[in-house]
Amino acid sequence: MTLFRATVVDTPSNPFTGGRLRSDDDCGLLVQLGVITARGPFETLRRAHPDEPVLDLREGMLLPGMVDTHVHFPQVRIIGGLGLPLLDWLDQCALPEEMRLADVDHARGVARDFVAGLVDAGTTTALVFGAHYAGAVDAMFDVADQSGLRVTTGLVTSDRLLPEPLLTTPDRARAESRELADRWHGKGRLRYAVTPRFSLSASDALLEACAQTLAEVPGSVFTSHVNENLHEIREVARLFGGSAYVDTYDRHGLLTPRAVLAHDVHPSDPELRTLAARGAAVAHCPTSNAALGSGLFPLRRHVDAGVRVSLGSDVGAGTGFCLFKEGLQAYFVQQLLGEAGLPLTSAHLLWLSTAAGADALGLGEEVGVLSVGRQFDAIWVLPEPGDPLAVGLANASSADEALSKVFALGTTSDIAGVWVGGEQIAAGHWRRPGRP
Ligand SMILES: [Zn+2]
Repeated sequence: MTLFRATVVDTPSNPFTGGRLRSDDDCGLLVQLGVITARGPFETLRRAHPDEPVLDLREGMLLPGMVDTHVHFPQVRIIGGLGLPLLDWLDQCALPEEMRLADVDHARGVARDFVAGLVDAGTTTALVFGAHYAGAVDAMFDVADQSGLRVTTGLVTSDRLLPEPLLTTPDRARAESRELADRWHGKGRLRYAVTPRFSLSASDALLEACAQTLAEVPGSVFTSHVNENLHEIREVARLFGGSAYVDTYDRHGLLTPRAVLAHDVHPSDPELRTLAARGAAVAHCPTSNAALGSGLFPLRRHVDAGVRVSLGSDVGAGTGFCLFKEGLQAYFVQQLLGEAGLPLTSAHLLWLSTAAGADALGLGEEVGVLSVGRQFDAIWVLPEPGDPLAVGLANASSADEALSKVFALGTTSDIAGVWVGGEQIAAGHWRRPGRP
């Protein structure tokens, strides 16, 4: 058992429906076998548990671990390919790199780089968009398993319109997916995600094979892309006889409360109604949307329609793994939308980066907030003395204001500790003597 002592900030209730930030100064969290078993004023917990070791994290603030609901593992080495719209970026940047993952040794190196990026950013749970090669996905599961992170991932499948080495068939996709799921789904903190790349590159036969795999692997998640780019949307409509993009998945029964679709920058109202009715979630990837010029995300329309929204860094069309940056960019986008935008507070940004992601992945009862009964997945934000964030935190007049400063000024360098299931998996870039 360990008794953590910290300023604890989280979002146990949804700020989009009236919830508020919860912030407790000098809070005690008793952690036993990875689970928070008591929470309250530190002195009260200390009296009740006088013999337990105390970890004193009172400087800075303790937040739930970040939850990234859309992040491509094969693209970690190509982050920063600026200047292209989606389909040109795929052809020139992403797909040539993804083909290199046919080599399992290469893929294992990429998986290590990728997992290091997640840990460095304080991302403790991720829905990881996998690779087109079973060997590469197997390597990703293996590296994720060793890291201790909560990772849901799977084989990416396509059977048309991509370079030939990235294509498969419905039968092969189903067989390889089952083999990977049998080996890894439910092992430790790993789960399987059924992952057609997007319906642009997936025939109805392939999507049907995906539906079968989803049914055959209880507890698996469905993920793909939707409505990212106007040219892409027109092509999908042409390929599917005028169908709306969301419907290309829905007609195969792929949209459920365990589905996460990335982007959805340009949805129609009927598509939003379908997503809400199925309980499917949307992973909003604001830096990627800006870098590719995809558009400004209509968050208000999603919230008004009752569609669940979480955050994704996308990587590599995004700009890195840090969800503070994604939260800030989400805020910028809503500001730029003017009257159509939904002004966001720091509570919204923390919710989107943590509890909303946990909820989208079906892990809302396990992680996302630092309440009794949840896993202790947490990050300790502690900027170096003299850093503008340290100055800002020292002069913040409220928890909301302090958290705004974390999203505005915070970087991965400010994360001084990362815990998953009570186990510390990373220390910060700078440490003081005697600090964890
Ligand atoms: Zn993506």
